[in-house]
Amino acid sequence: MLATTMTVTFLGTSSGGGPSTSRNCSSLVADVLGDGSLWMVDCAEGTLRQFHSQPYSPDRSNLRLPQVKKIFITHMHGRIVPILRNLLFPVPVGQDAAKSLFPYQSSGQHPTIEIYGPAGIRTFIRSILKMTLSRMSDKYVVHELLLPTDSETSCEPEAIHTNEVAGENILCSAEGFWRGVTQGKGSFGPVVVDAGPITHRDPCIGYVFREAVEPFRKIVILGDTCDPSAMTPLCIDPSPSLLIHEAADAYIPQEIDPKAKRSFDVVKEKALARGHSLPEMAGGFAKTIGAQKLVLNHIGGRFPAPNPSEGYRLKSIRSNVIAEIERQASEVWGMGMARAAWDFMRVAVPIPASSSPKGYPTAHNTWETKKSELIPDSPSYASRTQHRGREGWSTRASRNDSFRHNQSQQHGDSNNVDPLQNRNHGTQRR
Ligand SMILES: [Zn+2]
Repeated sequence: MLATTMTVTFLGTSSGGGPSTSRNCSSLVADVLGDGSLWMVDCAEGTLRQFHSQPYSPDRSNLRLPQVKKIFITHMHGRIVPILRNLLFPVPVGQDAAKSLFPYQSSGQHPTIEIYGPAGIRTFIRSILKMTLSRMSDKYVVHELLLPTDSETSCEPEAIHTNEVAGENILCSAEGFWRGVTQGKGSFGPVVVDAGPITHRDPCIGYVFREAVEPFRKIVILGDTCDPSAMTPLCIDPSPSLLIHEAADAYIPQEIDPKAKRSFDVVKEKALARGHSLPEMAGGFAKTIGAQKLVLNHIGGRFPAPNPSEGYRLKSIRSNVIAEIERQASEVWGMGMARAAWDFMRVAVPIPASSSPKGYPTAHNTWETKKSELIPDSPSYASRTQHRGREGWSTRASRNDSFRHNQSQQHGDSNNVDPLQNRNHGTQRR
């Protein structure tokens, strides 16, 4: 049974400063194929636990770890990758210790999980697995996205880990992109992954998940950056349905938070020096590429997500600060209301109303998250709850709700094209 609404669920929304009481470290999962499989972007400390910490879902639509099939790493900064080992090979407990986590695929050479990332990710994973004496029944593969200056990491039998399958070294094209890195079979046809470089202190990658056929939805997910303009060509024609852009820091006026002391110039200078963005920078890029939805991610530790268990005054200051961050981005973007992500926030990317292939329902008439379905203990801002629900922002899983009565509809994939067949010139695999 296929769901036709794509979703992105945030598992961790904090900046590199580490986990806080209200935010876990960076990770999100995207359900873009509609078959229940998840593609993860980044996998920082605590990600595994977030699967167990999801808000209660009455229809049992919570995400499960074995749904993760591909992991895309944006960059190698410490807090982005250390938990990969645990996600790949969680410590078995109790009677299930002998059982594979992925029993349906654990035999043979087929990798259970595919990892894509910058140069160094293969050695990193291999090293932690070797040094922690990890041996499991599952297989994994690492494909590295290489720049011309990067060297290749051997996948010869003597170099690889017992559980590793030889991966590909994917060199960027002459224009500097990795087009058609991988793909999956989506609700209407192939969903293709492109990647491009973005400016950060160290090499960093942005990923684009796009439908190669109508309705051509596109989700752009950026890693840490102070300037993602280098990958603009991947983000336009068509413009994305959703842009997820970091906003690690922000200038907050004292009218909003009496304790805020930093001037705009100080905030901006610091953010740029660390390779990070302010909300208006995220809004500016969203405007450039014509993003239809904008979510701010990778939020600094000084901007906690409001928590209902806090006292009214603190809660309202925190809500106001987050609202101010959203306002700053929205003002520059000029196409709607940006949202600052919180842990377990789920964003829906339904079929656009202007494009309803094969009679499928569209965004306009099918995405309804009832107010009563929102988890009461989520950091939601009461006054906006209803608004948010109407727009398709939700904290709990409602992926199946909208299409429950449409799921029996059949659709063909007759116009299925394989974009990897028309692989763009410069992209080489060796
Ligand atoms: Zn970073």
